[in-house]
Amino acid sequence: MPYKCEECGFLGVKINHIIKKRLCRNCLLSNKYKLICKSDIKKIYKFNDEDFINYPYIKIYVNNPYNRNAQVMTLFYEKDVKRYFLNKNNDIIINKLNINEININNINDEDINIILEELLYYFQIIKNNKKIIILDKILKKYDIQKENLPNYLINNILQTEKLKDINYLVQKFIREEDLYKLLKKHNLEEYINLNICNEFIEGKLNIKSYEIKDKINIMLIKKEQIKKLIKENNLPKKKYIHFYNNFINSDNNDIDKLLLFIKNN
Ligand SMILES: [Zn+2]
Repeated sequence: MPYKCEECGFLGVKINHIIKKRLCRNCLLSNKYKLICKSDIKKIYKFNDEDFINYPYIKIYVNNPYNRNAQVMTLFYEKDVKRYFLNKNNDIIINKLNINEININNINDEDINIILEELLYYFQIIKNNKKIIILDKILKKYDIQKENLPNYLINNILQTEKLKDINYLVQKFIREEDLYKLLKKHNLEEYINLNICNEFIEGKLNIKSYEIKDKINIMLIKKEQIKKLIKENNLPKKKYIHFYNNFINSDNNDIDKLLLFIKNN
């Protein structure tokens, strides 16, 4: 019968050119037909290259309709991907999750999802333990007590995808602490949110914290100079705001030159 969903019989359905079946929206999104792309499989099910080679189930190759030169995209039925993932980790399911006697080729979708959830949770715990071990090593290296780390930092570390980011997050914390203490000592802590401070904390600037403090001091001196310049020469404040700001943020320290420049403009 034409125009009927091949799964549920719903009327007025176009053919789906990827799955090559007439399927309504509901059926397309159902467990049976839900498709997943390679990058999501890598992210959720941690497939490596070998897994994609060994994968025994149907793969669907799709041309990019907007760009004929683009790579052909490969799509997979997620229900198959789940099965493969469970099969691959069968030892863990039996020995670590203590789930016995499952025949992965013969269990229903609901059970697959329950086991899958436990399995992903197990991997998450393994990964978090690994992160804590790495963190402890880094803290030992810098002689930092774990109790002194703020909660947000621990949370960020547990949420980060890449293990090598842990070192960066700790380094960032050390730089921020270091800079804040120094600024506070000189009553400059209100300037911790300046761009230059952020860039320093993020590790984009290859300078020491005292150099940041010096730069902030110079900036404040220049601000005072500008104030005086405006007052003494009766300059309009708004008209030249761009020049004033440029002067404050530049390496140019010659206020007389700025005045000359303004007078010539
Ligand atoms: Zn349907």
